[in-house]
Amino acid sequence: MSAADRLASRLSATLLMVDDEPTTIDVIEMFLQAEGYERLIPVTDSRRAFATIAEERPDVVLLDLNMPEVGGLEILQAMRADEALEHVPVIILTSSADADTKLQALELGANDFLAKPVDPSELVLRLRNTLAAKAYQDQLQYYDRLTGLPNRRLFSERLGQMLGISRRTSDQCAVLTIGLDRFRQINDTLGRAVGDTLLSSAADRIAKSVAADSPVQPASGHRSRLLARVGGDEFALLLSGTGVVEEADRVARRLHSRLQEHFELDGREVFTSCSIGIACFPDDGDHAEAVLANAGIALSHAEREGGSGIQFYNPSLNVRSAERLELEGQLRRALDRDEIALHYQPKVDMGTGRIVGAEALMRWQHPEMGNVPPDRFIPIAEETGLIASLGEWAIRTACCQARAWQDAGLPLRVSVNLSAKQFHAGGIAEMVRSALRDSGLEGSRLMLELTESMIMENVQETSETLRAFKDMGLALSVDDFGTGYSSLSYLKRFPLDELKIDRSFVQGVPEDGDDAAIVTAIVGMTHSLGLKVVAEGVETPEQLAFLRGLGCDEYQGYLCSKPVAADEWAGLLEEARNRAGVRE
Ligand code: C2E
Ligand code: MG
Ligand code: MG
Repeated sequence: MSAADRLASRLSATLLMVDDEPTTIDVIEMFLQAEGYERLIPVTDSRRAFATIAEERPDVVLLDLNMPEVGGLEILQAMRADEALEHVPVIILTSSADADTKLQALELGANDFLAKPVDPSELVLRLRNTLAAKAYQDQLQYYDRLTGLPNRRLFSERLGQMLGISRRTSDQCAVLTIGLDRFRQINDTLGRAVGDTLLSSAADRIAKSVAADSPVQPASGHRSRLLARVGGDEFALLLSGTGVVEEADRVARRLHSRLQEHFELDGREVFTSCSIGIACFPDDGDHAEAVLANAGIALSHAEREGGSGIQFYNPSLNVRSAERLELEGQLRRALDRDEIALHYQPKVDMGTGRIVGAEALMRWQHPEMGNVPPDRFIPIAEETGLIASLGEWAIRTACCQARAWQDAGLPLRVSVNLSAKQFHAGGIAEMVRSALRDSGLEGSRLMLELTESMIMENVQETSETLRAFKDMGLALSVDDFGTGYSSLSYLKRFPLDELKIDRSFVQGVPEDGDDAAIVTAIVGMTHSLGLKVVAEGVETPEQLAFLRGLGCDEYQGYLCSKPVAADEWAGLLEEARNRAGVRE
């Protein structure tokens, strides 16, 4: 803020003076006007003082002590006990040089004193200092340091005030919450300094886009906008006035396309995008926190749908989030209640038709809901942190099972899926080491399945973790290959053993030309990197023949078997042996 801005903001401050002597107020008002202060609210009836202060929210209160009806100390005490007025500075006007009263006022939280009769130059100086202190305090309390934008607290206070006005004028308000997609990933990969720069650049871009999008002031009614940073990578924009619902849509689309343009950070191009959730007043909530929370629910929904979308709040989202909450509560208890199990799907060698491995897949058998698929509960487990215990349980259980198979003379390598949160949480290598030790399984009998986006996230940390895994003798696989984006140079650098072609590509072969071309390219590329290639989701003999023709090494899929419980495994092997026997 420049000195001129500071002066302007000081002079536009709202001052409120409580004194039962109208002439004292008049004199002071005159002094202040001569100094350029434009707004002084006079209160002569001390019984109305507190209510007026609460309504006007002045920047400073000048408060007389000796008044009939309600005394100054009483008003001060009431202000300090009120959450909203607790920090409003109070300058006490006192004619008595009575030290005890001063002490009492200080104890109650008075900020400064002025002796009556008031010396104009002293008044001006004390006021200036008090306002400067207040401005600094406001800055700390109400503004975000990084972007200079209002923070969540100020936003929600202003939203509350705006909703109060809208109730009287029947105006509408809309709150847009804007989340930067992939922010965490960028922060992790490129470092915090770049993350911070991205946030302030994004804030800047949003502010500019909103300003450029400002409609011409309508003849009647008022419009206002407020942009704030309300969370790590989350911004909120308040629009109020008439027709804001259509406007919110337009503003959101524009913001969305502006944030899709790349950022130039630290000499490199960084791409991000945003998701936007919108909730309106009065339809989507009747007080500030409700509107803000519902905009947040809409945002989470947009993010869950894959990001980069705009979602208006509607009550069914609430139902869905209530369902998720319910599911979350149930999931917390699921492990203790033995509702979680691992099923195993065979991995088959294309050449010999032999079962060479098994992928462990988690199953949740809920007493009422039945079988809840992992695609539904794993994301919830990730969001809530439950993945740590679920994931550890899966690894420990799979290790014990693999060891039991080994003891039974079945040489199978068991694969376990890792989730991104689990992988990046730290301590994963230690946990796997302890699972191997406790089960007595050799590392070479365990394979971990990672996804592309997971290992591309924080390359340095990933390299170290993968190295630690290799030191234990583990095999490493990249799951769902082709659905994320990976850098070939990293794939080459990481100590990987196999890639699994995502089921969605396998599904289309051999008929679909695009899928066939992609699968052919992946097989060729994987082999040239010296890795094995595994096809997921093979369901038909035609798919199998096509993949075998390409030289694919192994496959999984319903054609051989669905995932089955561990105790069905022996029967399954028997069957496979018979089938292989018939074919030979
Ligand atoms: P994924 O690791 O890619 O597992 C393959 C999925 O494809 C499994 O779904 C499997 O049942 C299914 N599948 C296998 N063959 C066929 C087929 O021929 N046709 C069709 N239509 N589907 C087939 P599932 O068990 O529902 O698991 C879904 C995803 O959930 C897994 O995908 C994996 O990402 C995740 N997941 C499962 N268990 C765990 C776990 O223990 N930990 C973690 N982090 N993720 C898990
Ligand atoms: Mg898998
Ligand atoms: Mg997969």
